[in-house]
Amino acid sequence: MTATKKIGKTAKKSAKKALAERTDAVKTARKAPRAGALKTPAARGPLAPERVAAILKALDEAYPDAVCALHHSTPWELLVATILSAQCTDARVNMVTPELFRRFPTPAAMAKATLPAIEELIRTTGFFHNKAKSIQGAAKKITEDFGGKVPETLAELITIPGAARKTANVVLGVSFGKAEGVVVDTHVFRIARRLELARGETPQEVERELMRVLPQDHWIAFSHQVIHHGRQVCVARNPKCRICPLEMLCRSKDKTWQS
Ligand code: SF4
Repeated sequence: MTATKKIGKTAKKSAKKALAERTDAVKTARKAPRAGALKTPAARGPLAPERVAAILKALDEAYPDAVCALHHSTPWELLVATILSAQCTDARVNMVTPELFRRFPTPAAMAKATLPAIEELIRTTGFFHNKAKSIQGAAKKITEDFGGKVPETLAELITIPGAARKTANVVLGVSFGKAEGVVVDTHVFRIARRLELARGETPQEVERELMRVLPQDHWIAFSHQVIHHGRQVCVARNPKCRICPLEMLCRSKDKTWQS
């Protein structure tokens, strides 16, 4: 081999080595915390991925078994119970549904029920005229358009009387394990804003923001956990910040205690 050929080979080897070293350096830099990275999760803004992850972890630890509190044994029963839960406690709904489902166990049976018969059974949940109309309308729609089965897509569910996005998301998540959206009830709306995960003025806006901020595999659990949190700790008036597992991550002006 001539001296020129040797020099050429050595130069190629050095270039390859330098390239490999540069690639490793880029990989390492991507894994490492950025310069000036934070000591506290909140320091890089409320939507910093590590802060969101810390909130989800705290919720998982505090409410590992959070599930829907409405008693039901089928998607149809859950749909009806969710319609009844508007402006009413889950405990109250759970008192009326056993007899309602015993009398009218399927969409076909409910579609044939008279409005006064439904109203009588759901009277104590409030707004019973409207709720009875929604339940009867839902039963007819499901019987006539969906072969008697509750549909499994958001687009279809929101065509059912009484089932807006929140109800549709509850049924999809709880009955079918599908996360097409995030359930935003009064607790999720309030707490998402207190935690600065959302700033929207309507449940729809807050849902859109949460869908951007939260990993999709947390959409279902997040709502269940936050609803529990809202009932037990982060209540509307005088939240119990002193015992809140999220207190270190929360900068809400509504806080009643600061660590
Ligand atoms: S610290 Fe207070 S306001 Fe913030 S999430 Fe906890 S209970 Fe709610």
